[in-house]
Amino acid sequence: MKRPAFAQCEVLEISRGSSKDEIRQAYRKAALANHPDKVAEDQRPAAEIKFKAVQEAYEILYDEEKREIYDTHGMAAFNGSGEPGMAGGPDLDDLLAQMFGGMGGMGGMGGMPGMGGMGGMGGMPGMNGGPRGKPGKSPDAHENYEITLTDMYKGKTVKFAGVKNVICSLCDGKGGKEKAKAKKCSTCDGIGFKETLQSMGQFYTKSSQPCSVCNGQGSFFSPKDKCKKCKGKKTVEEKKMLEIYIPPGSKEGDKVVLEGEADQIPGQKPGDIVFTLVQEEHKVFERSGADLRADITVTLAESLTGFSRVVLTHLDGRGIEINHPAGQVLVPGQVLKVKGEGMPIRRTDARGDLYLVVNVEFPNPQKEPWNLSPAVVEQLREILPKSTAEPIEAESVDTVEFESLGNAEEFGANDNEEGWQDEDDEEEAQCVPQ
Ligand SMILES: [Zn+2]
Ligand SMILES: [Zn+2]
Repeated sequence: MKRPAFAQCEVLEISRGSSKDEIRQAYRKAALANHPDKVAEDQRPAAEIKFKAVQEAYEILYDEEKREIYDTHGMAAFNGSGEPGMAGGPDLDDLLAQMFGGMGGMGGMGGMPGMGGMGGMGGMPGMNGGPRGKPGKSPDAHENYEITLTDMYKGKTVKFAGVKNVICSLCDGKGGKEKAKAKKCSTCDGIGFKETLQSMGQFYTKSSQPCSVCNGQGSFFSPKDKCKKCKGKKTVEEKKMLEIYIPPGSKEGDKVVLEGEADQIPGQKPGDIVFTLVQEEHKVFERSGADLRADITVTLAESLTGFSRVVLTHLDGRGIEINHPAGQVLVPGQVLKVKGEGMPIRRTDARGDLYLVVNVEFPNPQKEPWNLSPAVVEQLREILPKSTAEPIEAESVDTVEFESLGNAEEFGANDNEEGWQDEDDEEEAQCVPQ
């Protein structure tokens, strides 16, 4: 399964000169988007193929040695597994384990955002926190976290394995051996990046790319002086179990901050990982602030004679029972406001309110025959309120035939396009002076 040159970059939707951080970030995004567990069953085989392609692209692009082979010889140097000369692709379960560092804490985590590689620092020279920026704080990493309304109601603790760059412990972030001195990079004249023309499909754009010789550092150690552990990169990747707590009552847009857990950069205070909560749509409840809204359905009989029953299941699983007294009519669209049954309000014991909108289900003869005897009809007529509307005035009256089960979808079907055009032609003809 040979791919044309550049295909690996295309799979990850990145440009050819992307930095390692950008590759890693693109990989996690693509891997999550094509995660076979996250798509409908009928799309699963396609997703698995894409997922493997993404994995393969990542393995080639991320590994410096393989990338070099790929850059010089193209995909022909590989047999499709991402390993030169190795048959077969990696196992899907291994990939997942590799991605998430074991599925231990993953139970029930919907929409886990890709971890690690966040911040996209590589390839953005001159920006705050760039390798040669002022000593300060490394950039914060921003991620969206999708969460269900139920979890926002109850609160949730999420554990996951994150991968981040940490300062190399052997060289303490220097990148070289103890007494070695870094040499200024002559390729970029010590600046760390270069302006290049870049192919974006059919056209070219100018962009700043980190210098490939010094890896954006402006200087480097000669191979023999490089730190053995980080190979001169100053940082090494480390897996770490992280935990975020989403308190009850959290809402869309709330931020959960993991202080100092972003990628580390030598000489800088590590930035934070900032999760922004995104609420998944709920099938039953709609939320506005701390208030909740849901539809309930009662039968015509219940609307007229009252009822006492559970009308819906709340987010914490409790049945919400309504006792509606006999003799009080419920009309369609009527709202029952239940105080204190909305969302929890953070840092308080208070709760919002629950608005129940009544839908009245009329007897439906199409579902179940419901025939009224003349005597019952007469009784109903006696019982139900008489019309108070004024009779409609008209000069003449036609009694019309009708279908009692008309189809609203057919509305507009009498618009005959051809007939309309004929009329148009006629009109044109009329305009020609005779
Ligand atoms: Zn350079
Ligand atoms: Zn080191």
